[in-house]
Amino acid sequence: ATPTALMVGTGRGAQLGILIKGPEALEQTRTIDTIVLDKTGTVTTGAMTLADTAAADGEETAQVLRMAGSLEDASEHPIARAIADAAREAGELGTVEGFANIEGLGVQGIVDGHAVLVGRPQLLAQWSQHLDNHLQTAFDDAQDRGQTAVAVGWDGRARAVLVVADRVKDTSAEAITQLRGLGLRPILLTGDNERVARTVAGQVGIDAADVFAEVLPADKVDVVKRLQSEGRVVAMVGDGVNDAAALAQADLGLAMGTGTDVAIEASDLTLVRGDLRVAGDAIRLSRRTLGVIK
Ligand code: ADP
Ligand code: MG
Repeated sequence: ATPTALMVGTGRGAQLGILIKGPEALEQTRTIDTIVLDKTGTVTTGAMTLADTAAADGEETAQVLRMAGSLEDASEHPIARAIADAAREAGELGTVEGFANIEGLGVQGIVDGHAVLVGRPQLLAQWSQHLDNHLQTAFDDAQDRGQTAVAVGWDGRARAVLVVADRVKDTSAEAITQLRGLGLRPILLTGDNERVARTVAGQVGIDAADVFAEVLPADKVDVVKRLQSEGRVVAMVGDGVNDAAALAQADLGLAMGTGTDVAIEASDLTLVRGDLRVAGDAIRLSRRTLGVIK
């Protein structure tokens, strides 16, 4: 590829809303055959809202929201934003000490003197806090509906299940059809639950066999490596801090411009408006740019 042709490609990219880090990035697109898509914030809007609350016997929703929301106020995670916003609407937030984010599992800290956990039931189980039947049913029902549920516990007991709802972006299904049209196999990658992931995959036309769910942030990169070791040339689209290593490992990393700076820095291309359809535009543009020059 001549430098001039690549420069032209870069200029056209800017018009389409694609920022290209360097001309070498375009070269990678020639042989891409697989595209790994992060779920939250990439295929879905990532703008979650609190949809439902289930409290154990004797627990009050207002108190659950205060405990969980105060803690989540310190987290940037979309689930955390939904819970903190709902809690702030319901009343004053409490005082937090010793906040810690446990990657891919949830958050912990002291709220008003109580040791609080919010996150996957596995996190609470590490502290012997188990969902009772009522909470487990609420949790399972939410996941069957394709919603994300998290557990809340404090002082040694699981107290509630909070359900947050995200939605698939209006443009995602069309984007995935376009990517298939370019000969790419779409794969969904998420730290979220298997059932939620499959529901989202079904809504956008990704095969159930191509869903990697409950993948811890540190393991997302391994999914990309595994596909590469099978001889695939892999593009990855993501938005989060937890996607950065996988974006860097991919043969072509595409960041959502609406996502975190860390993801953008780790990527070759940025889709400025966060529209997944532009991923297909980017690949088509680069192939065309390279094709012109030969
Ligand atoms: P994704 O890959 O979809 O962006 P993450 O890896 O960030 O998801 O998170 C995986 C799971 O860990 C979430 O679905 C949730 O159950 C739990 N989790 C992570 N962070 C938080 C948080 N701040 N509050 C509650 N739960 C969380
Ligand atoms: Mg994400």
